[in-house]
Amino acid sequence: MRLRHLFAAGVDIILPPQSLLTGDLADINAGTDLWTQLNFLDEPCCYHCGFPFEFDEGDKALCVRCSIKRPPYVMARAPFCYDDKSRSMVLGFKHGGRTEGLPVFAAQMKRAGRRFLDEADFLIPVPLHIGRRVQRRYNQAALLARALAKISAPEFAPDILMRHKSTPSQGGLSFTARRRNVQSAFRVRPRSKPVLIGAHVVLVDDVMTTGATLIACSRTLLRAGAARVDVLTLSRVVKAARALK
Ligand SMILES: [Zn+2]
Repeated sequence: MRLRHLFAAGVDIILPPQSLLTGDLADINAGTDLWTQLNFLDEPCCYHCGFPFEFDEGDKALCVRCSIKRPPYVMARAPFCYDDKSRSMVLGFKHGGRTEGLPVFAAQMKRAGRRFLDEADFLIPVPLHIGRRVQRRYNQAALLARALAKISAPEFAPDILMRHKSTPSQGGLSFTARRRNVQSAFRVRPRSKPVLIGAHVVLVDDVMTTGATLIACSRTLLRAGAARVDVLTLSRVVKAARALK
């Protein structure tokens, strides 16, 4: 994919100090290989959802989906594609306890979110239902948001948004089914409402697939009084990538 080549020149600046796969210096080449194969994302892209464009069509150019229906968030950005190259790394982080890449992930997310990150008030991770958090031992979105808060201006705010409904796994569901699945799953904690009024928040998650979860969270935050919501994920599915060829 062309985005990989576009970003190849910057690879030595962003190379992780040790293997992302094992955290082992002896295995640095495995990490380097993985890193150079990732499909990085950057502008030009859809102003709202960040879908990558082949050509620069202006700052506020929209993809087909956003031009039909504007998402509730202003901008969604991710540093790289969720695809065959990045899947093992993302799933290893999500389910396998491989957290050694966190500082590099955070640095990459900071790059992707540079247009809105430093003006934001809060970094809010997409919450897991308590049952799933116990099962996974940690919320990967919260780890990303906390790592990002260490290198950027907004405050890490893991207690504002909660998931009060345990939703079935989203894997394999269509956008409509996912939306139905999550639309009433989130709420703002009553005690957090005063700090949210007029706030600019950034929602953080590991993967943006259809965006249904992030849309549901954005709506919940806006309804509770947030002035602006942006979205920052570690990776995103670029479903219509074949249309870019
Ligand atoms: Zn879009």
